[in-house]
Amino acid sequence: VKGLKLYAHRGSGEKTPCLIQDILKNALEFCRNIIQPHMEIHVDIPENLPEIFAHPQQIEQVFINLITNAIHAMGKAPSGEILIKACEQENSIQVEIKDRGPGIPADVLPKIFQPFFTTKKAGDGTGLGLAIIKDILEEHDGGLHAANAVEGGAVFTFHLPLNLPHRR
Ligand code: ADP
Ligand code: MG
Repeated sequence: VKGLKLYAHRGSGEKTPCLIQDILKNALEFCRNIIQPHMEIHVDIPENLPEIFAHPQQIEQVFINLITNAIHAMGKAPSGEILIKACEQENSIQVEIKDRGPGIPADVLPKIFQPFFTTKKAGDGTGLGLAIIKDILEEHDGGLHAANAVEGGAVFTFHLPLNLPHRR
């Protein structure tokens, strides 16, 4: 399944100090062949962001699943834009991924983190992508939140703890 390479990595390796921008770079590399030519991905991450303490491959999976969903949501629209932002906030790094798709209908929003919930046609989605990454983020003492942008499109926000001395 495209975008699901989690199980190969799960449990392997240790949490380590790492940079969100390095992890994003790897995720974008992985997504390269599903990013349509008419889609633009804007990344807005300050250079001096402090390290997080995490499993880099699992966090790469978080990005991959969110980017894959954003690309799917924008589908065959003539133009598409994904905005990825990160900032430091209260001992954590907050990351926002916003797309220009149709957004998430109000009746769908409460269900999207349920395992196997999907609005995609059979074969297109497993309904596991968000459930898995919510689990990953919570195991990291972080979290994942979904909303709609006022200007349209979905916004997913996640946060991860900084690499503070007491975590190691
Ligand atoms: P899948 O992608 O296999 O359907 P996910 O757990 O990744 O499973 O997502 C569950 C559902 O959440 C999707 O089927 C879709 O309805 C909704 N969703 C996820 N991301 C977006 C997005 N960026 N825009 C609109 N809806 C979304
Ligand atoms: Mg998905």
